[in-house]
Amino acid sequence: MNDCLFCKIITDEIPAEKIYEDENTLAFLDINPINPGHALVIPKEHSRNILDITSKSFSHVAETIRKISPAIKDAVGADGVNIHINNEPEAGQVVFHMHAHIIPRFSNDGIKMWQGKEYDENEAKNIAEGIKNSLDF
Ligand code: 5GP
Ligand code: ZN
Repeated sequence: MNDCLFCKIITDEIPAEKIYEDENTLAFLDINPINPGHALVIPKEHSRNILDITSKSFSHVAETIRKISPAIKDAVGADGVNIHINNEPEAGQVVFHMHAHIIPRFSNDGIKMWQGKEYDENEAKNIAEGIKNSLDF
């Protein structure tokens, strides 16, 4: 993927504040952080998002998130972290190389999480059935 921004960060064609790298993954600071220390974890093997990433590649990303989250939290003195993945434009994805956000959170950072809705009668049951019927593995 020659025209992929994050593939170019992997190959150093575009600079980034890299914080961790191994054979299969790379982590670097987001250029427009929600809070200081906001980092992105990407697989070195290009995929678009959670909808096409391989099991192996996603496992590598998950393990890197697990390994580096405590260090990010400690380094910036955060109280917690959010792990967040946007998949497809309608879900807020802007860069189309799979990436997980690690977002340090502070007790007074003022960031509001999204609001929950309510299901109508039987709606949850029907949706759960539909999802179970769509599972194809
Ligand atoms: P998305 O909305 O696709 O989940 O998030 C893309 C993220 O990539 C955004 O938070 C944005 O700030 C970050 N980003 C976009 N371009 C660059 C870049 O060139 N370098 C770095 N380090 N982060 C970038
Ligand atoms: Zn890429």
